[in-house]
Order: sequence, then structure tokens, then C-alpha cells
Amino acid sequence: MDDRKDLQEASPRGLLRRFALLSAVSVAAILVLVGVGVHEIDRNQLIESAQGNATAVAQAILAQERHVLVGKAPDGADRIAVAKTDAAGLDARLRNFLGPFGIVKIKVYDATRTIAYSTDPAIVGKLDANNPKLERVLLSGAPDSQLVKKEKVADLHGQHRFLVDVVETYVPVRVGEDIIGSFEVYLDVSPAYERIVTAVRLSLVVLLTVLVIAFAALYVPMHQGTSRLEQVQVRLRELASTDILTGLFNRRHLFARIGEEYRRMGRESRRATRVDRIGFVMIDIDHFKSINDNHGHLGGDEVLREASRRLKACLRTYDVIGRYGGEEFLVVLPQTDLASAGLVAERMRLAIRETPFDVEGQAIRVTASFGAAQSEDAAEDVEKVLRRADDGLYRAKEGGRDRVVTVA
Ligand code: GH3
Ligand code: MG
Ligand code: MG
Repeated sequence: MDDRKDLQEASPRGLLRRFALLSAVSVAAILVLVGVGVHEIDRNQLIESAQGNATAVAQAILAQERHVLVGKAPDGADRIAVAKTDAAGLDARLRNFLGPFGIVKIKVYDATRTIAYSTDPAIVGKLDANNPKLERVLLSGAPDSQLVKKEKVADLHGQHRFLVDVVETYVPVRVGEDIIGSFEVYLDVSPAYERIVTAVRLSLVVLLTVLVIAFAALYVPMHQGTSRLEQVQVRLRELASTDILTGLFNRRHLFARIGEEYRRMGRESRRATRVDRIGFVMIDIDHFKSINDNHGHLGGDEVLREASRRLKACLRTYDVIGRYGGEEFLVVLPQTDLASAGLVAERMRLAIRETPFDVEGQAIRVTASFGAAQSEDAAEDVEKVLRRADDGLYRAKEGGRDRVVTVA
């Protein structure tokens, strides 16, 4: 059984199935890896470039508006502070300035995390005490950016935009060694991000097409080769089990089938559904030597072929007939007791003797002798039941040939 399982797994069709499965998994893995990889690289580039823009804008604002944004603390140190009187003017100038940059919002934090200025006036003066990114930027002095999807943002003209991809960048404000605050710049990168997504999708479609063509170019010839190989295997199996002259099973295959029938009988009797019998009929053509002598070896061969056809025509599809020896045949009749096996043998005897054989234009009469037996149970040695059938055949010959003898 294990051998058979190994054979199935190593069968051409099994290998082909494995190849197809592996191809599908590989294609999926390649698409996912390439898709995620390309998207990630492009997305990082987008964030990096947005951060560059935000930093440049923040520096330009600081350079232009330093006198309004940076004041002196009581201790003389610089700090972010926007005087109430300056706020309206700053706001007007910044909106004007920021318009073309795709900036939707800008905030300026002072060192106490309070919003000193924002294009959104509602949040000016609010304390953002719990903002880890802001903390990090104020501590490290390095800018920080992230790409987020916003359901809805109001742009600098007060207009709402929906499902916007925004890069939020914190740009620290440095005065000498000190970090005295931070800008937070919201850049709308939706069009650029959309282009990235479209490009990734397009490259995946192209890649998928190429992969499908490549795997199909492998699969189609492999499939054809597999079918051819399977045909050859089937043919080889047939050849290995067939007697060339008569087309019946050969002796080797006959014994393999008898083994199968015995195993089946064992299973069925264990389940106690039915006690099975197997009928056996041993057949030998009478005076075959003289047929050879009178009509030549080829004539004898023709008789063997025609006898095989006639014998087979007397059987059910699940009966087994094979060439046992030179002019001897063995018939295996599953689920058949001795009496029924005798009846089948009698039918075969008549099929041989009733109609003369045509050998090279000459009609010759042929007879055969039959010995029938039945298996006792699955434990019985096959040799024993074959010996009983052979014994019947011997007695049929002894009794004058052209007859059936059943042996219990
Ligand atoms: P009996 O009635 O006792 O069976 O006599 P018989 O002549 O049939 O028996 P015997 O065993 O003496 O002869 C069988 C002959 O069958 C001998 C052998 O040459 C011949 N034979 C065996 N195989 C083949 C074959 O494939 N083709 C042909 N033409 N003859 C074969
Ligand atoms: Mg013989
Ligand atoms: Mg004979």
C-alpha cells in the first residue's frame, strides 16, 4: 500500500499538480512582495520630499517673520511668541505666501508646547501637552514626518477637502544651540500619492501578466508531456499484464488478480455481509498438438486466439480470464460457488465445440476439457483450490475429454 502511495505522489500528474500549486503560491508571493516593496519605497520618497518642502517653507517663514514670531523672554532668551497685535497681519501674509505650496494647515508651537500661531485660529493658545512626536522633535531637534489619511481637512481658503493624504511634518525652530519651538506643517500630497498607487497597481498588472505567460509557457508543454507519459504508463501496464498472442491476462497478472479477490473476500467475510466464494475453472484444449501438427503452428495460434475470444464472451465483466500455459486457460469467477462455476464451464465448453473454427479457410472442430472448483474461505491456500480445479481437468481428460468435471 505504501508503495502505491509513493507512486501516486511521484506520478506525473501529482508532480504537475504540485507545480501548479507552487506556481500559484509563487505568483501570489512575488506580487505581494513587489507590491508592498515598491509602494513602501515610493511612499518613503514622497514623505522625504514632502519633509524637504515643509522644512524649506518653515525656514522661509522664519526668515521672513522672525521679528513677529520670535520675542525675548524676561530672562533675555529667545522664545516663540506672537503678539496679539501682530497676529492678524502674520496670518494674512502667511496665507498669501503658503497658497501655492499645497499646504493645508500650519501651526507654530513654543517651547511650552502651546500653539503660538495656527492658520486654524480656533486652536491658537491651546496647550498640546500629550504629543510624543512634538516632544521628540523638541528634544532631538530633528524633523519628523508621517503620511496620514484625513477624512476631511479645511484648506487655507476655508474649503473642505475629503479623504486627503497629508504629510504632517514637525520642523524644529532653532536659535543658536536652543530649540525654542516647532512648526507643524500639513502638506496635501493626495495627487502624488494617487500617482504612486496607480503606478504600483499598473506594475502589478504588468508583472502578473508576465508571470502568467511565463508559467503558462512552462505548464502547457509540461501538461502535454505528462499526458503522453501517462498514456505510455497505461500502455506499459497493459503490456506487462497481457498475453501477446491472445490479449488475455498473462499468468503473472492472473495471480495478482486472484490475490486481490482473496483480499476482497477476507474483508467482506470479516464484515459478515456475505460469505464469499470464488469459482475457478481450469481449461485445456483437447489434442492441441495434433491441431499444430495438421495446420501448422500459425494455425494453432489462430485456434488459441479464437478460443480465447469465445471463452471471454461467456463471462461477466468482473470475471477474470487469463492464459495459464500453452493451450491452458484459467477463469476466476468472483462470488461464484461450485455449482455456478460448473454451469459457466459448461457454457464455455459448448461455445468451443458447437461452432467449427476457421483455420486458413478450413473449418475444424475443436473441443476442450474443464475442471471447476471453488475456494473454501479466505484463509485457504490458493494452491489448494487450483489443485482441485486441475484435478477436475485431469479427470475430464481421463473421462474422454470435451467435458466438465467439478471437484468439491
Ligand atoms: P491433451 O488433449 O491431452 O491436452 O493433448 P494436447 O495435445 O492438447 O496436449 P499436449 O500438452 O501434449 O500438447 C500441447 C501443445 O501445445 C504442445 C505445444 O507445442 C503447443 N503449444 C503451446 N503453446 C503454443 C502456442 O503458443 N502456439 C501454438 N501453436 N502451440 C502451442
Ligand atoms: Mg496442456
Ligand atoms: Mg491440451
